[in-house]
Amino acid sequence: MSLDNKESAAPAPSDFIRDIVAAHVAENKYPRIHTRFPPEPNGYLHIGHAKSICLNFGIAREFGGICNLRMDDTNPTKEDIEYVESIQADVNWLISAWADDKLGLKPKGQTPKAISEDGKRDFYLPAVTDASARSGLEPFYASDYFDQIYDYAEQLIEKGKAFVCDLTPEQTDEYRRNALESPFRNRTPEENLDLFQRMKAGEFPDGTRTLRARIDVASPNIWMRDPLIYRIRHAEHHHTGNKWCIYPMYDFAHCLSDYLEGITHSICTLEFEVHRPLYDWILESLELPRPLPRQYEFARLALGYTVMSKRKLMQLVNENLVTGWDDPRMPTISGIRRRGVTPQSLRNFAYNIGITKYNGLTDVAVLEYAIRDDLNKRAQRRLAVLRPIKVTISNYPEGKVEELDAVNNPEDESAGKRKIPFSRELFIERDDFAEVPPPKFFRLKPGGEVRLKYAYIIKCEETVKDADGHITELRCTADLDSKTGGATAARKVKGTIHWVSAAHAVDAEVRLYDRLFTVPDPGAEEDFKSTLNPHSLEIVTAKCEPSLKDAKPEERYQFERMAYFALDLDSRPGKLVLNRTITLKDTWAKEAQKW
Ligand code: ATP
Ligand code: MG
Repeated sequence: MSLDNKESAAPAPSDFIRDIVAAHVAENKYPRIHTRFPPEPNGYLHIGHAKSICLNFGIAREFGGICNLRMDDTNPTKEDIEYVESIQADVNWLISAWADDKLGLKPKGQTPKAISEDGKRDFYLPAVTDASARSGLEPFYASDYFDQIYDYAEQLIEKGKAFVCDLTPEQTDEYRRNALESPFRNRTPEENLDLFQRMKAGEFPDGTRTLRARIDVASPNIWMRDPLIYRIRHAEHHHTGNKWCIYPMYDFAHCLSDYLEGITHSICTLEFEVHRPLYDWILESLELPRPLPRQYEFARLALGYTVMSKRKLMQLVNENLVTGWDDPRMPTISGIRRRGVTPQSLRNFAYNIGITKYNGLTDVAVLEYAIRDDLNKRAQRRLAVLRPIKVTISNYPEGKVEELDAVNNPEDESAGKRKIPFSRELFIERDDFAEVPPPKFFRLKPGGEVRLKYAYIIKCEETVKDADGHITELRCTADLDSKTGGATAARKVKGTIHWVSAAHAVDAEVRLYDRLFTVPDPGAEEDFKSTLNPHSLEIVTAKCEPSLKDAKPEERYQFERMAYFALDLDSRPGKLVLNRTITLKDTWAKEAQKW
């Protein structure tokens, strides 16, 4: 089963936001449901964003609506084209988990128009419905609306609802904290308009003037205390170049971008709840044709044993504590993808955790469950030995090779069978032998028997040691009648272990990942980096069955009894590199159960 195989839609979840949307659909409140996912391109997307993507695109899909991907790019100094591109790739990858959507497809060059020629509220209607265009889910940019947003700012000024303020940033903060009116609050609309136009024309240096909404400095909600809506930033923007030296603040740009795109349900995380009065105030004050978009808030995802803030993730990257944003230990979508997790399992995870109003830490086991559940169904089974020790079967003829049948996926009969070579010299897992076995050790021990998967029962007759006393080889004999079809094929021994034929094995660099942090909530520590797990990556050279030579990036593999693996993008012809996506749930080694 390849990753491109589209699965049928999973049952739609239900939560308080979907209930609201369903009610709006029932009462025909809007011509169409329209959501958006609005990342700021100042870092890579993480699994928290995945929750938001699944919610916004999911709602659009379930209610026959549309979801826009919008770059919320109002801060030229922190944003970068690299992030724009990674966001686009990550969202595309994630929503490819849905086979049937036509979501957020934007015809090239078309920008939304909120109001039609006749002055009525016009909903922007994307015309593209060709599923082949999906890989090109094209983002919208808040910065594409800078002209319109600027016009709206002038309108506010003309209505006496915005003023140019000459306080410094520090003074502004202090005045707002202390509920004090700015001395510039009562400038006339004419004077404000003149100053604002000169701000735009580049007459003033950064930080010397701002445009502020004129609301209520005594409001108990600090966001309503004459908040900044424009600031001066003489900086080049990744999308608009040098066209602007004033930039709208998030709160001003966001509600207006929502409005311009015809968004009906503007869904964001709980910390924006206190911004909602401002969101509504701006749209109301401009007396825009109805209907207006409305903001709804849900609890952000916080996941155990990792951090989710872009600022902290950026530190890990910049200080080379990981290999990059797509390091498979990172909680970024690109890291998770590189590790071998499928979009379907992330989507299932997002659906399993649900949408609530309460912030809390989600147990990483919930994510692990979704990943295992998905990989168990799709992964091709293979034999590979991660920490090899040599075994010689002394009663097996030298030079003889048998091709034995092995099942590709017990969960999926259509995956068929393959042949694996058996010969006199093999590798088994070092841990599958114990010279002094602990109680209930059912694998190989001196004088003991074990079954080799798909092959014979062997007995350990002798251990060979080097000068330091380390075991270098096990000499065994096989019950040559015990393989499938043989006289003693049904004979039971307590343990079954995996193996590879030494002469046929292919080497692979295998990257064994563990949790990146050692504590459940590293973000709550004074220095989150002090809780980094020094053992989060172990690299071994594994001995793999020969069919893995042809491993494909879109396949997933289960090394039997060990873990799930996927090909890493560092692989080259002749050099296999595999990432451990996740260990098996029911593996015998408790230690190995970690994600
Ligand atoms: P950070 O705080 O990590 O810098 P952010 O919230 O500033 O992230 P944005 O790019 O603004 O990142 O986020 C885009 C969208 O994703 C927003 O709607 C935001 O609410 C949502 N989002 C961000 N983080 C999470 C999270 N942990 N869980 C759910 N949704 C999230
Ligand atoms: Mg943000």
